[in-house]
Amino acid sequence: MVSFQGNGIAPSPQYNASQPLPVIIAGAGPSGLVAALTLQKYGVPFVIYEQNASEKICSDAGRGIDMSPSVIKILEKELGLYRRLDAAMKQYEYIDVSNMDGKHINTLRFKEMSERKRHITGERNFGFASRSKLQHILLEALGLIDRHGRIKDSPYGILRCGIAVTGYKKMIGNFVQVQLDNSMKVKGSALLACDGVHSYIRQCMQEGSEGSALNFTNQEAWWGTTTVRPGSALEQELLHIAASRKMQGYNVGLVVLGTNQNPGSFYANEVSKNVYSWSYFVESESSNFDADLIRRGGKVLDETEKQELVDKIPSTCKILKLFSEFTPTADMNRSAVFDRDNNLPSVDGRVALLGDAAHYYHPLRGEGSNKAMVDGYVAAMRLATAIMGKSSSSNSKSQKSPSIEWALLGFDSYKRRKGNTALVKKSRKYGQGATSNSRYTCWARQTYFKFMSAPKMIRELCTGDKSNSRFVSDMIKELKPYPKPARCIARPVIPGSGACDSIEMELSKTKTFTEEDVGCVCMGF
Ligand SMILES: Cc1cc2nc3c(=O)[nH]c(=O)nc-3n(C[C@H](O)[C@H](O)[C@H](O)COP(=O)(O)OP(=O)(O)OC[C@H]3O[C@@H](n4cnc5c(N)ncnc54)[C@H](O)[C@@H]3O)c2cc1C
Repeated sequence: MVSFQGNGIAPSPQYNASQPLPVIIAGAGPSGLVAALTLQKYGVPFVIYEQNASEKICSDAGRGIDMSPSVIKILEKELGLYRRLDAAMKQYEYIDVSNMDGKHINTLRFKEMSERKRHITGERNFGFASRSKLQHILLEALGLIDRHGRIKDSPYGILRCGIAVTGYKKMIGNFVQVQLDNSMKVKGSALLACDGVHSYIRQCMQEGSEGSALNFTNQEAWWGTTTVRPGSALEQELLHIAASRKMQGYNVGLVVLGTNQNPGSFYANEVSKNVYSWSYFVESESSNFDADLIRRGGKVLDETEKQELVDKIPSTCKILKLFSEFTPTADMNRSAVFDRDNNLPSVDGRVALLGDAAHYYHPLRGEGSNKAMVDGYVAAMRLATAIMGKSSSSNSKSQKSPSIEWALLGFDSYKRRKGNTALVKKSRKYGQGATSNSRYTCWARQTYFKFMSAPKMIRELCTGDKSNSRFVSDMIKELKPYPKPARCIARPVIPGSGACDSIEMELSKTKTFTEEDVGCVCMGF
């Protein structure tokens, strides 16, 4: 079992120097949790600090996540989630495309394709995940929630909610000193900044540099989660759409494109039975909506704002009107839409920025969460090789493990950074097209969707994911000469029970994790 006694700035007397210090992760979003799960797989201890209260960790942002092939492979195969992913991810059966004037444009019929052609990975189709459910299964796989959904400690790591990381200091020696908002300092072997778009660690790392400011895209997003009640007008409309497009059932993704008379775009997906997540993007002058980080940059609506939304919706777009009417105000959010040009380094010694903290895209191309999860996996794999590779090096003929600094520096490759910067621009252009009132742009988007087909959309998704798959394969190539850390995922920690014992035994040389140690880890809160 992992002990964290060494995490205080003044190590406790029981601290065992042979034990690796935990990796500190700021933020329990998709990048932070995937990083933690990867570290856990190799028995690297970690501590996650999350600024929000535990019950907010599984909140939603936007309409969810179109899952890329790389992410599915990482979650299913590399991190062992396999069928558990079914609880978070729904496969597309149909995507129905219409416009704000109420005209039908096309229906993409995934359900009618052969099984083999539908698959984007070995056996999984193009699909869509609810963010909150994905967060939930990651926490479950980490052993960080009990069956009532309450946060608990796992043998490999701990999650502390309601504590923000506010900065760091590089230290001479083998650790980084991390500052918390409760004025405590803790030390870790490395710091992974998964703290989202407003990252404090980014501010600390790039202090005084130009180019780290957010760029307002002159757009705002409204989003919500809606339960479709049997017999409701919303259900009737969904059934009507299904019948008129000859769909089997109404598990349908909806895309409503703007016209020059009625600009804006609307997207909705069924995330679980009779529950839809949706978002609506329009142009906006105002960039200063209250930043409520509980819902990742959004503000929960009040009745006046809900009315403002309803008034904005063109009367010709019945489905959007119904979604807004049938969504409780408390389940609706609004935020200004930003992105950020990304040219600055995102690694400083033992500290790395991941996900939105490193690169922030316009959300409409659906890149953000996928890139965040791939970042989490790659950075943590590199760290695990540097930290745990050492313990197995004596059995290996290959060279000595890399240093933590080297491992993280490779994460911030020039190629990846350049690719991300290009993608920020591409996503911005795509996103702005989605709310444009230019006659030509609206026509071009409608023509694009008119000639889109389900196989073509799958091909585009796989092509768009190339930078992620290359990032993973480059990491594998680069780490090949080094001793591989031994796996020990999802194993109950029972010393003497199997293949991972050497690591477990190594880690359990000191006494096991107790409440007293929490005080030591968190220095007294
Ligand atoms: C309106 C909207 C729609 C979107 N739609 C999509 C979509 O369809 N598809 C898609 O892929 N992506 C979408 N995104 C983007 C997606 O939500 C992000 O890219 C993704 O969540 C990034 O993950 P992350 O882990 O890097 O950061 P986050 O998800 O932002 O997580 C960061 C975590 O860190 C915590 N935190 C913040 N500061 C601190 C601190 N100082 N100390 C400790 N903890 C801290 C936060 O509370 C949060 O839990 C959308 C975003 C928005 C706003």
